[in-house]
Amino acid sequence: MNDPNCIFCRIATAQIPAARVFENERAVAILDISPLAEGHLLLIPKQHVPDIRGISPADLGELTGVLPRLVTAVMNATGATGANVLQNTGASSGQAVFHLHFHIIPRVESDALGYRWNAGTYAAGRAEAIKEAVIQNLSAP
Ligand code: 5GP
Ligand code: ZN
Repeated sequence: MNDPNCIFCRIATAQIPAARVFENERAVAILDISPLAEGHLLLIPKQHVPDIRGISPADLGELTGVLPRLVTAVMNATGATGANVLQNTGASSGQAVFHLHFHIIPRVESDALGYRWNAGTYAAGRAEAIKEAVIQNLSAP
């Protein structure tokens, strides 16, 4: 299930060190090595799956079940007043490590991280077309 060339598999199996804040049978949470803010965490399943599309709903539920505790703990530990929970899927999203992980990024009003991406609008008919396409794909096997 593990990929010997995968940095997060190697961290999950303690072959390479990381600052662990949490571990259970299925997951570890560590400090990100290049934090966007102090306390920036990564929640990583021990199972190697490249991204969120490869994990079963049950396994994802078990993995993410700890997010409320992690977010609360890191906010309390750092004095953050908010947090972004972020999961990048695919290189075009910015994903750099192709082993599923969730970022937990503590936030305060005065940080300079930003968040508001350049939102667009739908051209006439596009929202309906996209809505139908997503619904069709949801019911595809
Ligand atoms: P992605 O862009 O794939 O969503 O995020 C990957 C994250 O993993 C980055 O924030 C990066 O700093 C972090 N990262 C990459 N390599 C290591 C490592 O060896 N140790 C730790 N702790 N974090 C890492
Ligand atoms: Zn891996």
